[in-house]
Amino acid sequence: HAKRQGRNRSTLFDSEIQMTARSRFALESDLREALQSGSLDVFYQPIMDSTGRAVESMEALVRWQHRERGWLSPIEFLDVARNAGLMYQLGACVLKRVCANWREARERGIHLPTISVNLSAEQVLVPELPELVQQICRDQQMPVSALQFEVTEDSIQGDFGVIGKVLEQLVAAGAELAIDDFGTGYSSLSRLKSLPFSRIKIDRSFIKGLPDDENDCAITLSIIGLAGGLGLSVVAEGVETEAHETWLFEKGCDYLQGYRYSRPQPFSDIIQRYFAG
Ligand code: C2E
Ligand code: MG
Ligand code: MG
Ligand code: MG
Repeated sequence: HAKRQGRNRSTLFDSEIQMTARSRFALESDLREALQSGSLDVFYQPIMDSTGRAVESMEALVRWQHRERGWLSPIEFLDVARNAGLMYQLGACVLKRVCANWREARERGIHLPTISVNLSAEQVLVPELPELVQQICRDQQMPVSALQFEVTEDSIQGDFGVIGKVLEQLVAAGAELAIDDFGTGYSSLSRLKSLPFSRIKIDRSFIKGLPDDENDCAITLSIIGLAGGLGLSVVAEGVETEAHETWLFEKGCDYLQGYRYSRPQPFSDIIQRYFAG
């Protein structure tokens, strides 16, 4: 009896693993298809000035509308893309969509603020990335200076020779460079110093506890101070409440981003809400 139960249990277990592997494989092949056809989408979240009133720039965030599963967020498919070696291609898709959106706005007479695009570890390790960026911008008659790029501390841990050159060429082409989720990755103050960053984004995990959590206050304040000392601007991510906003404004944080102002939205909605008429 025990033996049969054991066998049943292991059969169930095997089929669960198979199911997971199968659905993972299905997602991977759907993703390949979406990348081929350029059907990944990009949502935009505004980044506000220090008062929270004016839009300073906006961040492009990848989304995927899967025919069966509906809208998928990056956490649901970036791992699949990473394991399948599709991150460079995904990044190229996002860039193409962002630049196409920029051009569409321009054709309607709308001047968008700077658009900030996230770059992956895989992208910054490709020496041809700056040429790709320039090519895509050229195709849409968009200046590279309309773009900003965000990299996390962890995504710049690879070959410093290559990464340094790639980032410098992007900046030489006119883009700005921000360090994303600052404070959560491998601390790399020497890289912060030696790479051409002009902006620090404080990770939202430190903003959450403001103004009650003393540690979050101390960390946030010191990052604002660090940015000031290095001549960089500073953005707080994950600003959700008036209390967050007030505290950050008083401490001299330059820019604010978070659900308090807007969730990431489809391009047409962001245009409608902030830039049309
Ligand atoms: P991130 O670059 O740090 O982007 C900010 C994330 O925080 C976004 O999640 C955004 O929706 C979320 N967020 C913004 N304001 C708030 C808030 O007030 N509260 C909370 N709880 N969350 C807030 P999202 O869009 O799910 O993206 C997650 C991560 O996926 C991004 O973090 C980024 O690391 C990555 N990602 C997104 N799009 C791309 C892309 O095109 N390329 C690459 N390589 N990575 C991307
Ligand atoms: Mg980001
Ligand atoms: Mg971030
Ligand atoms: Mg973050």
